[in-house]
Amino acid sequence: MCKFTVMNVLSTKKEYKPSIFGDKHQRKPIYQYLVAPLALAAALILGNNAPASALKINLTYGANVTQEQKEAAELAALIWESYITDPITVNIHLDMSELPWGKMGAAIPNLRTNYNYDAFKTKAESEAELAGQNTDFLAAVELAEQNTYSSPTVELAEQNTSSSPTPTNPDDGLFSGYKIIYQNGTIGTTDSNIMITGANAMALGLSFNSQSVLHGYIQLNSRYNWSYKYAQGTVDKNSFDFTSVVLHEIGHNLGFISGIDPAPGTAKPSSLDMFRCSDYSAKLGAIDFTVDSQRRYFSIDGCQTVFTLAETEETTNKKGDIVTTTRTYEALFARGTNRRLGGDGTQASHWADNNPDPGIMNPLLQGNTKRKLTGIDLTAMDYIGYDVDHKKYYQTDANGDYILDSKGNKIVKPLDFAFLSSQAQIRATGDNYRPQYSPDNDDTTRTEVEKFMDESGIYYWGWDDSGDNGDCENDPNGCVWW
Ligand SMILES: [Zn+2]
Repeated sequence: MCKFTVMNVLSTKKEYKPSIFGDKHQRKPIYQYLVAPLALAAALILGNNAPASALKINLTYGANVTQEQKEAAELAALIWESYITDPITVNIHLDMSELPWGKMGAAIPNLRTNYNYDAFKTKAESEAELAGQNTDFLAAVELAEQNTYSSPTVELAEQNTSSSPTPTNPDDGLFSGYKIIYQNGTIGTTDSNIMITGANAMALGLSFNSQSVLHGYIQLNSRYNWSYKYAQGTVDKNSFDFTSVVLHEIGHNLGFISGIDPAPGTAKPSSLDMFRCSDYSAKLGAIDFTVDSQRRYFSIDGCQTVFTLAETEETTNKKGDIVTTTRTYEALFARGTNRRLGGDGTQASHWADNNPDPGIMNPLLQGNTKRKLTGIDLTAMDYIGYDVDHKKYYQTDANGDYILDSKGNKIVKPLDFAFLSSQAQIRATGDNYRPQYSPDNDDTTRTEVEKFMDESGIYYWGWDDSGDNGDCENDPNGCVWW
């Protein structure tokens, strides 16, 4: 059995228990806490009265976060904001904490498990209609179709009409809820609740009530050497890239989570899980909420196909020549920490660690490596309800049409890092930027985070070596970081 080091991260009474990851390859999991329940506290309504015209990620910081770290974190926020246009403000507090070795960072999204599936579906559709985004709309329709038990052929056929989708009211004549395979083998057909983070709920236009003004909490491990040169495209030797990890943890808080990770029975399938499929679930026309050794994939057509995206990137080599690289991303999900059930040892709230690197929501980060948001990261955000401006991610011509390479792939548009860095610097020094929340007050933060962890109902505090996470027992190197 492993020996755990008890750490007091937020409170002297309560202790964190991160789960265990083996690490044979010097790759460190980017960690996300999602654990068991506490009693719900009474809710106080705090509306999301954000007047902004695009996503604003309002970061506040613990007293021990340096100016350099703030600038690197603000850069991460600005990168997400570059692509997402929902007029919402997402408040996230960031701390440096002594996390266990092997954990680069942690995210605790403020979330609720009791959103109605039909409300999610309806909002996702209307959001898509407002934005004129047929892809979103189709995804929502496919969600509905999962409930109709229609044959794959029919769904595929309907998919082919994507040029002018004419969906009928998905609720007509259908029961409420989604079809899902649970770990015990049962197939649920009447489950009507899903789990959505506060930020995701606001993006959907669903109400999000909380006693806390925070929508999420991020910790980065103060034990590691960090590098702050994301904008320059380099990473210091023997260091981990700070901005990459903040990008990742913001992604969790925005809604890239799976209900598979918390203790069984405490969570619900998330908005992202509505697109979580297996070959088996595809045959049943259901989403897959189980852990086993078979591939799990992100699908936007009712589980019929794995979402796959090829995109081209142009970089300049040392000679000054433009080098064109096309990468094809297959959107596979990580399969969960429980290796005994066939999980891959990483939390299901991620893409599977794959080649090519799928994007910012890869569960592992290597030293001396920076990681980018990719087209599949943004597509996932799009489908769970964000308005993603893909034309800010891909190159367009004077008419606003996508520029395609010779194979018909879209070409990634480089970010203007000189501009973003200057903006990050301004933000990191501007106290007025954070009117809603008093920064640098760790007691206030602890109270806020404890409040929303209670309200979310899926988190618990303290270590747990009950063994439901099979890594330590089964992986000879699994305890190496402990
Ligand atoms: Zn993660």
